[in-house]
Amino acid sequence: VLLLHPFNAYLEQELDRRFRLYRFWETPREEFLRAHAGAVRAVVGNASYGADAALIDALPALEIVASFSVGIDRVDLAKCRDRGIRVTNTPDVLTDDVADLAVGLAIAVLRRIPQADRYVRAGLWKSRGDYTLTTRFSGKRVGIIGLGRIGQAVAKRVEAFDCPVSYHQRTEQRATYPSYTYYPSVVELAANSDVLVVACPLNAQTRHIVSREVMEALGPSGVLINVGRGPHVDEREMVAALADGRLGGAGLDVFEDEPNVPEALLGMDNVVLLPHVGSGTNETRKAMADLVLGNLEAHVLSKPLLTPVV
Ligand code: NDP
Repeated sequence: VLLLHPFNAYLEQELDRRFRLYRFWETPREEFLRAHAGAVRAVVGNASYGADAALIDALPALEIVASFSVGIDRVDLAKCRDRGIRVTNTPDVLTDDVADLAVGLAIAVLRRIPQADRYVRAGLWKSRGDYTLTTRFSGKRVGIIGLGRIGQAVAKRVEAFDCPVSYHQRTEQRATYPSYTYYPSVVELAANSDVLVVACPLNAQTRHIVSREVMEALGPSGVLINVGRGPHVDEREMVAALADGRLGGAGLDVFEDEPNVPEALLGMDNVVLLPHVGSGTNETRKAMADLVLGNLEAHVLSKPLLTPVV
């Protein structure tokens, strides 16, 4: 098993215990591949470190890519299909945490929770007095791009805040969610939302799905929440729209070029910035690790994979 990065200590320890583990970061890439390429039967990556075409091509004995993430945008799925390489991910176990964080970000942006915290820490409450008024979250119209596992969990949560829910994706879910409004166009969804949450997978169709036009439709009092992937949003346009006040605010867990965050965002008071921590709780990361291990063991034992993508 080739682990691409040391992203979870428990997973690394268990992989080491149950398999013959190679740590990709310990040896220069070319040197590692010269020595061990033929021995690698499984690759374990995550949302940031995936199996691209070059890596897959370099591993002639590769049988399975088990990703420690639900999003598999960093795995070359077409290449895996061609080569008969299986691919697994970690759905469901992280859904609640990501949805919690999306709602937390929306409230944090509107109620300016981090900014108010900084105000207290800086001693400004004492020197300047009461903090500025903020904006209510309860009852706001929430639009969701991608009413999948995470999108549905966000919808369920915001319903408890009396927020009307609408959504955009390729298929309307009228029978399952008769009270949610479906918009076949993202621009229309944005125009009818106060808070727009991105929760779809990243692929060729969804790259920059939040375009300048979408952000302008969301408008000067609208808030963009991105818990999907950075490239869902045209980041340059977002920074400009936030700076000009054409977009009201943003709560961002993901960025186009992680861990690089546009410098301009760091000075803005209408944004809340997180370092891609949607699934980052002890509980969920343990469950994700167990799913990766379960998939690898199922594969080795020729049993059905727990969460197959390919
Ligand atoms: P699901 O597959 O359950 O849901 C995805 C939804 O997106 C579906 O309802 C699907 O509907 C919709 N969708 C797919 N293609 C498009 C498209 N072209 N345009 C609009 N909507 C589309 O995935 P999850 O809810 O489990 O996860 C969603 C994403 O969240 C992941 O792929 C991942 O990138 C991201 N994520 C981020 C995390 C973080 O740390 N911030 C953590 C976990 C996940 P339909 O097929 O009808 O279009």
